[in-house]
Amino acid sequence: MDRQFPMLRVSLSRLQANAREITSRCAARGIEVCGVIKGCDGMPEVARAMRRGGVTSLGTSRLEQVERCRAADVPGPYMLLRVPALTELPDLVRLCDASLQSELTTLEALEAECARQGRNHKVIVMADLGDLREGFWDKDALIDACLRVERDMPRLHLQGIGVNLGCVGSVQPTPEKMQDLLALARRVEAAIGRRLETISGGATSSYTLVHWGTMPEGINHLRIGENILLGKDLQVDWGIRDMDYLAMDTFTLTAQVIEVKTKPSYPQGQLCIDAFGHKPSYTDYGIQRRVLLALGRADAGEVESLIPREEGVTVWGASSDHCILDVTHSPREFRVGDTVDFSLSYVNLLYASARSDVRVVFEE
Ligand SMILES: *Cc1c(COP(=O)(O)O)cnc(C)c1O
Repeated sequence: MDRQFPMLRVSLSRLQANAREITSRCAARGIEVCGVIKGCDGMPEVARAMRRGGVTSLGTSRLEQVERCRAADVPGPYMLLRVPALTELPDLVRLCDASLQSELTTLEALEAECARQGRNHKVIVMADLGDLREGFWDKDALIDACLRVERDMPRLHLQGIGVNLGCVGSVQPTPEKMQDLLALARRVEAAIGRRLETISGGATSSYTLVHWGTMPEGINHLRIGENILLGKDLQVDWGIRDMDYLAMDTFTLTAQVIEVKTKPSYPQGQLCIDAFGHKPSYTDYGIQRRVLLALGRADAGEVESLIPREEGVTVWGASSDHCILDVTHSPREFRVGDTVDFSLSYVNLLYASARSDVRVVFEE
């Protein structure tokens, strides 16, 4: 089938420029950047643009994406960011050079798998400093695990320790949190009797400290996805205005208009639940000019997070395969067959990039 829309346009030059802006600022502070490609389904073209923009390794949560990039000859090294499931270990050892880890059981099984394949693998052991996702909460247990890797697991190399913040528990990365990580690294180093190569201070949210010049010395690695891919979270959601050296129009989602009507803004009849089992509340804005798009939650997830590229257009609602725009205040005369462009939020990119029926077009 030759489906034209929805279409996802990808500006590889803007992605490369974003990567360059970030990696050069990080390099000035002795920080290496792992470019994280999971937000765009690990598109090899994007991975390559990140590499050209100066990231020194590539990271993702999904091994399928590593396989895809390797098949496309995008140079690694590759790091698995989601702590691996036991059933993933054979592919992890085959495909990745390094991984984040938080369970002794998994480390032991990984050592055994490495021995089976005759390969070596680097690990970064994760500490949980309050965000409450992966990582050791008990710091003594983390040091024990590091010691076990160092002493008893010859196929594994303890590359360092790391932390993730600002994802699940919405905990803000601060210089204090980074100092906690550094103090823990010093304890691990004392226990194993050598320096760690990598102290990985987090993701996009931790880049704020590089931007503000408050990242403590010693943090030498970040894993950055969103800020390269979209540059939106920190500039829009955090409201950091002087980060405008990052482009936010790296990806464009274009959808086609399938209906243009004038309708009431308040549903008519007895209200029960919507297609997703929710009981939304509606506000009566009177009569609206409305545009229906051939685009839905199946394509873009939370479509309310899409950012229309033109004035006077707002997303009013959506179901799996439809999106409704309120264009009452738009100067444009919409017609069936027209197209509408959007910038994307992370969740939109996550869905749109991974759908086989969204056409992807790469631009320089
Ligand atoms: C997704 C992920 C990242 C990158 O997150 P961004 O917010 O996109 O920069 C970094 N580290 C881990 C462990 C992750 O899962």
